[in-house]
Amino acid sequence: MLMRRRNLVIANWKMNPESLEEAKRVFNSTKKTVSLIKNTDIVVCPPFPFLYPLSKSKLSKNIFLGVQNIAAETKGALTGEVSAEMVKNSGVDFSIVGHSERRAMGETDKLINKKLQTAFSAGITPILCIGEKERDKEATYLEFIKNQIKECLSSLQKKYLVGLVLAYEPIWAIGKSYKEAMNPTDVHEMVLFIKKVVGELFGKDIAGSLRILYGAAVEAENTALLFEHGNIDGLLVGHASLTSQFGDILKAVPK
Ligand code: PEP
Repeated sequence: MLMRRRNLVIANWKMNPESLEEAKRVFNSTKKTVSLIKNTDIVVCPPFPFLYPLSKSKLSKNIFLGVQNIAAETKGALTGEVSAEMVKNSGVDFSIVGHSERRAMGETDKLINKKLQTAFSAGITPILCIGEKERDKEATYLEFIKNQIKECLSSLQKKYLVGLVLAYEPIWAIGKSYKEAMNPTDVHEMVLFIKKVVGELFGKDIAGSLRILYGAAVEAENTALLFEHGNIDGLLVGHASLTSQFGDILKAVPK
């Protein structure tokens, strides 16, 4: 019998909320729903100051903590940076890498490639974000996505590429309402395209093991349809992960 792969849902809190009290409230409410959900792993990525206090609370086995960013270097005089090793030693297992909001602050594919290297070496599972700013009729965005994949994954060891988690996030839909999200059949098309590109670059076995998440304007209303028609392995959720609808999103993930 073919076993269904576990779904993966990432909650990206970005630079929210303002207080530890509110962070605990949101986290506890997520924890409650997660304990009722089967066949899905949930990774909550709060801002750095909240990680340690949240890691002290008792977690069920399908909820994990992640960070939103890590340094490209392992150590040194790098004011304001946090290394993958430090993060791992603080009980964190995942890191978002190459989010479009960090790319907008100057992160390049080359830097993201370095971050992936350090994440893997430290035993952190990176969630690599890719996505186009806009779509054009000539479909040059496909070439753009292909390049992102090629540059970000360049010279990574094969053992790290097996089971890679890739979040496809069309930037033009990020932060919007579900009505402006990508429609699930277009998501499906992108998933096939990404698998094809990864297959051509790194081989069919790597492409087959890939876990592709969709992110951008995911809300309770479009979650079930994204899974039904999008051919995805999970979601990366931004604004809705801080609200009470996150519980409904988790409940709509197929079991
Ligand atoms: C994101 O920024 O990664 C994201 C998915 O945001 P939102 O869900 O708010 O579109």
